[in-house]
Amino acid sequence: MSKRATPTDRAASEVIYDTAAAVPLTNDAAEAVASEAPVGQASVGKGDAVAAAGARTGTPLAEGAVGCHAGPEELREAAAAAGKSETLERYAADYPVGPHDKPQSMCPAFGSLRVGLRMRRTATVLSGSACCVYGLTFTSHFYGARRSVGYVPFDSETLVTGKLFEDIREAVFKLADPAVYDAVVVTNLCVPTASGVPLQMLPKEINGVRIIGIDVPGFGVPTHAEAKDVLAGAMLNYARREAEQGPVQAPKQRRTDRPTVALLGEMFPADPVGLGMLLEPLGLAAGPVVPTREWRELYAALDCAAVAAIHPFYTAVAREFDAAGRKVVGSAPVGRDGTAAWLEAIGAACNVEQTKIEAAKNAVLPAISAALAKLPITGRITLSGYEGSELLVGRLLVESGADLRYVGTACPRTRWSDPDREWLEAKGVQIQYRASLEQDLGAFQEYRPDLAIGTTPVVQKAKEVGTPGLYFTNLISARPLFGPAGAGSLAQVVNAAIAGKARFDRMRDFFEGVGAGDTAGIWQEQPKGRPDARKAFSGVAGTETNGKDRARDALAQESVVTGEGVV
Ligand code: SF4
Repeated sequence: MSKRATPTDRAASEVIYDTAAAVPLTNDAAEAVASEAPVGQASVGKGDAVAAAGARTGTPLAEGAVGCHAGPEELREAAAAAGKSETLERYAADYPVGPHDKPQSMCPAFGSLRVGLRMRRTATVLSGSACCVYGLTFTSHFYGARRSVGYVPFDSETLVTGKLFEDIREAVFKLADPAVYDAVVVTNLCVPTASGVPLQMLPKEINGVRIIGIDVPGFGVPTHAEAKDVLAGAMLNYARREAEQGPVQAPKQRRTDRPTVALLGEMFPADPVGLGMLLEPLGLAAGPVVPTREWRELYAALDCAAVAAIHPFYTAVAREFDAAGRKVVGSAPVGRDGTAAWLEAIGAACNVEQTKIEAAKNAVLPAISAALAKLPITGRITLSGYEGSELLVGRLLVESGADLRYVGTACPRTRWSDPDREWLEAKGVQIQYRASLEQDLGAFQEYRPDLAIGTTPVVQKAKEVGTPGLYFTNLISARPLFGPAGAGSLAQVVNAAIAGKARFDRMRDFFEGVGAGDTAGIWQEQPKGRPDARKAFSGVAGTETNGKDRARDALAQESVVTGEGVV
């Protein structure tokens, strides 16, 4: 039997990205941690912690474990019964669903995990089923996290008895080293949320390290975009309360003495620089981007003159800015019309004189018009994604000359995307919030575009029928979009993709006859249809609009295998 690897062995063989990986993973140090806990923060004995938490808050603790196989309704009911109803009600108000219950998307917790992992001096800890944590850590490292993700495992017993909360608390105390971290973020995934693991009972601060506990269940937060809002909002709330108590840390480098506009939403790295140049003639400067990359930037963001909600789904963050007395302005400077309207709106929010606003517009609009005219886009396009910037990209495509017919976004309708929605609808573009895959595919069927920009399954579908496709997340949303730099930035990739139609036709012809859908691949015998099972397990997407029922039926028809029924 091989000797079990010691921490020293592991350290020699593993790539250590940060010191979180050096935290002991066994319970050996448990007693030491309990005895080191500051009085008043962690003086509750290990065995009493959860019970005491429940007694203080009146929060009923989980009486039985609910597995993630239980389904969203049962998980939601269990979470409400376990004291999470206030959180779920807030999420229901912040992240309204419908016309679909839940768009098809990745695990929402990836959004908040990514926000935490991108912040300096911040430790992230997940509490959830091992399979969920495996997927989330895999995805975060796929996207180059280069940081350790903490995990507090559980089993039925530790979940039901409340020991899981004690384990989380213990892990937090072990991690909370002020020399290494400004903040520790603990995230309850589906099962611990449904079981009522009371992260709100963690100490708010340990040795000067802020402790932030959030619930990000798939049955309460519809998309990974909105999960970013959950964590960014929780951090901004914490920072706002700190600022209310007294002086807080200044930004590392004071970049400007002008009033700033905080920028809401992750964007292309050069975009804040471009936005700053647009703001300069208004006497303003670009402030921090929220979600921020370090804690003290939260204070600088709150210190802004106004907030530009570049991405329109940050409802909790906007609430914090609102509480701090800051105006939140929707849309973004995309294309000529978008830039003109945005400069007007930002100028008005910051009480800038009209002459300065006109000067700012005159300084930039001719250059944008010229850039758009120089690189026009020709072709019919459908567009769908889950990043929140879909409507902005849609505006830029239309201003570039594209025949855009449909924009689907997994994000909900909010007042901050109204200017973009109204502008696009006035140009005859169909907008679908909370778009389902069926709706995105239905639009593709209906409009027969020259190019489908979309999520992986949409692009796959397009390529299968010989239509060029571009992944929204990797190829479109990660480009400069704003001002003169954004104008024309899409044209090259979009026109090149449309021009590749002949290549897609050749590929489609090459693969013709090798099977499709359930029958793709090499089989010992012809696959048998299971129409009853398909009917039993196929979800009903909900209210349909614009003839999408018919489009979905048409798609279903494509699944029919001649002589074998629907498989
Ligand atoms: S945490 Fe919830 S939504 Fe995420 S993978 Fe696990 S079960 Fe799915």
